[in-house]
Order: sequence, then C-alpha cells, then structure tokens
Amino acid sequence: LAKSIEIPAGVIGLYEALAEVHGKYREELRPVKLTRRDKDTSLAQKAPLLNFVAFQLEVEKVRQAFGEVCEVLAQHRPKLKRALIKLQKTVAGDERLLKSLVEKFVWQDNNYMAGFVAKNKVNGELLALTLFNTSKPFVANYARVLEGQFRDDLWRENFCPVCGWKPVMAANTGESRRRVLHCALCDTEWSFKNLECPHCLNEDHETLGYLTVEDDEVYRVNICEKCKGYIKSVNEENLFTRENFFLTDIKTLHLDLLAQREGYCREVSNWITKDKN
Ligand SMILES: [Zn+2]
Ligand SMILES: [Zn+2]
Repeated sequence: LAKSIEIPAGVIGLYEALAEVHGKYREELRPVKLTRRDKDTSLAQKAPLLNFVAFQLEVEKVRQAFGEVCEVLAQHRPKLKRALIKLQKTVAGDERLLKSLVEKFVWQDNNYMAGFVAKNKVNGELLALTLFNTSKPFVANYARVLEGQFRDDLWRENFCPVCGWKPVMAANTGESRRRVLHCALCDTEWSFKNLECPHCLNEDHETLGYLTVEDDEVYRVNICEKCKGYIKSVNEENLFTRENFFLTDIKTLHLDLLAQREGYCREVSNWITKDKN
C-alpha cells in the first residue's frame, strides 16, 4: 500500500499530553508475591492476575488524574468542552462514584457502563476515553509488580494475563522470532504464536497475511481473512529504543485507516473508542 495519509500534529499532541498525565501517576508499589496456587488458578480459569491482588485505587489520586485528563481533553479539543463539563458534573461530584466507575471500567463491566451512560445521558465515547486514560497508570503500576508472575510459557490467550484487556498492538521482539502482544491498558506483554490471529485464534497460514506501506520496515498490519480482523505490529529488530505503545498506536493511525479501507476491523474493545477527529 502507498502511504498517503498524514496524521495531523494536533492528534499526536493530545496523546502526548495524555501520556504525560500517565507518567505523573507512575509509582512503585510494594512487591506482591503471588502463591503457586494463585498462579495455577489464574491459568486454569483464564483469570487475569489482577483478580488475585488487592487491586485498590486511592480515591483522591483517581479524582486528581480524572481532572487532569479532562483538562487535557478540553485544551486540545475545545469542541468537547460542554460534554466534558457535563461528564465532570455527573461523575466527579461524588468521589466514591468515580472510583467505582473506574474500577468497573477496568474490569470491563460493559453492562454497568452501558447502563450508566443511558441513565445519566453522558457521552459514552468520551466517558470511555477519560476512564481509560485515568485508569491506565494505576493498572500499569500493578502490572509492573506482577511482571513475570504469570506463566508466559503457558498463557496462550488473546487477552492480557494481568488485567484481562485486549492487546493494542503486536511486536516481533527479534529474540528467536518471539512475537508478543502488548496490553492496551497495563502495558504487559505476553508471548503469542507468530501465525495466529489474536481475534479469532485462526492458525491457518493460508488465511493470515499482512499489509505494509512503502519504505516502512518497522510497522505493518497483520490481517486475518477468516474474521477480517487486524492488529498492527512493530518489528523491534529495526528499532533502537523501546516504544510507548500508547503513542505508537496513534503515530501509526495511518495503518488503521489503510487497513479499514481494505475492509479489515480493529475491534479492540467495546470500550476504547479513540477520538480520531
Ligand atoms: Zn493488561
Ligand atoms: Zn481472525
């Protein structure tokens, strides 16, 4: 495919500002050691590790992070100001409500979220965007503590072994052709087969392929003809530094547009709906 789409600088600016907010809430938590039994249960029940630690959010920090995320959005997207004010009035007035909303969001309680949106008549996409960016750093703090505690040799799911979210992108790490999926929410990486579709688990290489754009040896799109799903992929062999996938996802938005133009779907989660305007 020819690279014919440029991502507007304003879009990247917004995500860089959001990444800065994430960075502010990065924190080293006290180490948590899971028991062998927890790890076995996690594997047997396909239950993400976050289920086995006392995942707790601090009300005050959540309130603060939510406020900063809203502020960044209002600055970069003046058109959203009214919807943001309505949202803040609805959720930020009650700190306990905000905390529990963030937790329900992290656990992907989509029924609750849909009910909340309908009941309070707030903008659902905006709510998802703000909750995603509010919760991301806190869940990532837990994920770093839990790093290496899941059985990477045995976990073969298409969702994150730590938090249960879907991958944002795949990466080829360069070490013995190891392919990993990178969690959209907590940044955990787990091994995944080189030739397997992370949407429908199709392993038939005849129906798996990829799209690339001219002169790009780092980023490509893995596609599946069976489910018409796609995932963007980074070839880390050709990179000097580790990526911040939250930003890489946005910097490679042209690949989403191209893949979608070719008839493939991203389908990351019902709840991350990124603002692409
Ligand atoms: Zn995760
Ligand atoms: Zn598929």
